[in-house]
Amino acid sequence: MPRKKKQTKYIFISGGVTSSLGKGIAAASIGLLLKSRGLEVRLQKFDPYINVDPGTMNPFQHGEVYVLDDGSETDLDLGHYERFIDVSLNKFSNVTSGQVYDAVIQRERRGDYLGATVQVIPHITDEIKSRCTLLAQMDDNVDIVITEIGGTVGDIEAMPFLEAIRQMGLEYGPENTLFIHLTLIPYLKTSDELKTKPTQHSVKALREIGIQPNILICRTTRKLSRDIKRKIGLFCNVPPEAVIQDIDCQTIYEVPILFHCELLDNLIVHYLDLLCKDLDLEEWKKMVEKVKKPVHNVRIAIVGKYINLRDAYKSITEAFIHAGVPNDTHVELVWVSSEEIADEGVEKFISNVDGVLIPGGFGERGIEGKIEAVRYVRENKIPFLGLCLGLQCAVIEFARNVCGLKNANSYEFDQKTPHPVIHLMDEQRKITRKGGTMRLGAYPCNITKGSLAEKIYNKPKISERHRHRYEVNNEFRNVLGDKGMVFSGLSPDGALVEMIELQNHPYFIASQFHPELKSRPMAPHPLFKGLVEAALKYQKSKKVPSTKISASTLKNK
Ligand code: GLN
Repeated sequence: MPRKKKQTKYIFISGGVTSSLGKGIAAASIGLLLKSRGLEVRLQKFDPYINVDPGTMNPFQHGEVYVLDDGSETDLDLGHYERFIDVSLNKFSNVTSGQVYDAVIQRERRGDYLGATVQVIPHITDEIKSRCTLLAQMDDNVDIVITEIGGTVGDIEAMPFLEAIRQMGLEYGPENTLFIHLTLIPYLKTSDELKTKPTQHSVKALREIGIQPNILICRTTRKLSRDIKRKIGLFCNVPPEAVIQDIDCQTIYEVPILFHCELLDNLIVHYLDLLCKDLDLEEWKKMVEKVKKPVHNVRIAIVGKYINLRDAYKSITEAFIHAGVPNDTHVELVWVSSEEIADEGVEKFISNVDGVLIPGGFGERGIEGKIEAVRYVRENKIPFLGLCLGLQCAVIEFARNVCGLKNANSYEFDQKTPHPVIHLMDEQRKITRKGGTMRLGAYPCNITKGSLAEKIYNKPKISERHRHRYEVNNEFRNVLGDKGMVFSGLSPDGALVEMIELQNHPYFIASQFHPELKSRPMAPHPLFKGLVEAALKYQKSKKVPSTKISASTLKNK
């Protein structure tokens, strides 16, 4: 390994008992705490599945695919990392078994292993370790690399990753590596008790493979008493002060604050002997207070097809929380199935909301319901934001109902349509392979002078992240434009429509890109902030008092 100016330290976060305990949020929260103590932090997620990336997976399998500036399609936990520590990650931040095996097999085919038998240990584990240290080697100033291991301890797929981090512990020593295990302390109602046994078993499973966790983060619905902490510590071989309570809370953005109250950052600084300043979380705390104590409430409908799986729209949900902050508003999301709109009519679902968002999506199912929702918001002047497929639906609706182009459609859904107002991008025509071949990542966009987009962004040039194959068909720009559709964002060469909007409507705007991927709690995305502002205005104009906020509506963790 080339010599570095400073020794990077490694924190590994594993999970036990069940999945979905919030490992990503724990990793992101630790990242924020250490960053706020002046340390240079990198975050990374290991995903043990064989897919090279989640881009080819169905949202029902995986939830949202989070796209980075460099175009990599990654796990949604990377969204939490970017939102909490406010950085732009890159392709090295998400490592899958697929990538690891692919690299090793390619090397084997080239003959690089010089006749050796290629094995999980050491070849696969070496490749995993090199992905861990890569983030540190790319930048001399990195103090900490935090690596989250996907899945749950005991999963067959995760074994090579756990073995690799065990070896890292040995090679870099306890002063440079720290193992944090996230686990669950379930509460049994019948006996009115918190149970520690599942945690004991999952730590036992870790220790069997040679990893002794240094810190346990315990998800719980109730406070952990000193006695319980002592008991967990005793059975799991950690001091009671290293048993950290991770109690359910109102917003995920509160987690770093609660971790700090448990002295988690002090503990990490102590264990890794880090030189750093005291914590400064003042601005973050102010933001969290605003999230927890909103003054107003608006109802925004999300009209989509994956609404039973909220993880499919994770970044959108978060972007609305961020957008609520400067508006002192809680955004109540009303999940509407586009298929139900098609079956039961639009009025029933979106007549009593203050705004509508149509998110991205793929395939024909539910499309007519979305188009109907666009018609309704356009005609009734309800604030609207369309994202990617949402923009495409807005164009189809306008072409059909305003321009009189009967049966206008996207080539994605109807290849025989007489008016393909949305068609396949030129560079997509020859592509047959599915993985990583869409128009992906950040592209520049010029904003049209005098447009609503210009007012919202307050700058002439922007850069936003994309994930799509289809685009507005330029042959229809004139017809659409003549009837009042404004192309308010264009690629710098003018060839691609990136944003559209309508005049004579308080807020009707859509983007071919995904603004939700760049929203941050301390820097809400202007398009979302604008939608919430418009929704508040719309609500006032209806003279309907803000809907009362119930505690359950506010719970989003
Ligand atoms: N299916 C559409 C396309 O590929 C929209 C994609 C999206 O919404 N992300 O262009």
